[in-house]
Amino acid sequence: MNAKKRYYSANEFFRNKFSDRIIKIPVDAGFTCPTRDGKISYGGCIFCSERGSGDFAGNRTKTITEQFYEMKEKMSKKWKSGKYMIYFQAFTNTYADTETLRNKYEEAASLENVCAISVATRPDCIDDEIISLLKEINSKIYLCVELGFQTSNEKTAEFLNRGYKNEVFLSCVKKLKENNIDVIAHVIIGLPHETETDILNTISYAANSGIDGIKLQLLHILANTPLADIYEKEKFHILTEKEYVDIIVKCIEHLPPHIVIHRITGDGSRSLLIEPKWSLDKKRVLNDINKTFVEKNTYQGACYIEKKGV
Ligand code: SF4
Repeated sequence: MNAKKRYYSANEFFRNKFSDRIIKIPVDAGFTCPTRDGKISYGGCIFCSERGSGDFAGNRTKTITEQFYEMKEKMSKKWKSGKYMIYFQAFTNTYADTETLRNKYEEAASLENVCAISVATRPDCIDDEIISLLKEINSKIYLCVELGFQTSNEKTAEFLNRGYKNEVFLSCVKKLKENNIDVIAHVIIGLPHETETDILNTISYAANSGIDGIKLQLLHILANTPLADIYEKEKFHILTEKEYVDIIVKCIEHLPPHIVIHRITGDGSRSLLIEPKWSLDKKRVLNDINKTFVEKNTYQGACYIEKKGV
């Protein structure tokens, strides 16, 4: 772990693994979700944007190759050199037949200077056939799977329209790990009516599930989502910046040192963000988090308690 940063960052992980900067190219492969098309429910997870959390991804009407070159061009202004990771970001990227999935993943893997693929999905959309496919792709190019978990509080999960129980997440992580596939869990900090105990329970649940990495995502209320309608009526508590910084530091203290922290702020679209507005200044939030680590003289894993079986 990089001593200066006090937690195991994705930058450090990727630099160690690939000896280079990894530039993520988010793509929209044209899928949907079982909580949108009626297989489980309609409307999607209540916080999720119309573009299936892929607001920065390429245009879904274009091929993966076309999206790659377009995004690469845009990003070249910011990052002059590095290797690429294709991030299947929008919607559920294992929600199709295996032939369709294989074609998309292989197209991504064949692109110039691409050394990794990240597949964002749901644990209830990964069956044994898909595990075999992911394993096959992972034998040719580094692949990791990102699972939208959000919370271990089943009541909140139901309210979010997540559409699956916690044990589905656990058994999916287990199967992926049995096949040597890296797993990143997404959790949301600041969900309506959740307490600090709920948040730390989620962190502990995820930490002991066998995951390799985690994205800690501040709850964003985005326009045109069911959550925005609820917020309009209820005005539930939104974390202040200070509350968020404090809880993020606590979350990281409760994570074991080997888990890579892939995100510690929100990453929503500026044009869609209703609240919290303070999160728009990402640089300041990151600085405050780092400052708090120093002031508290603490670090990742300081409060981690290993539990056998979550
Ligand atoms: S959070 Fe994930 S599973 Fe839920 S609606 Fe959005 S993209 Fe689909």
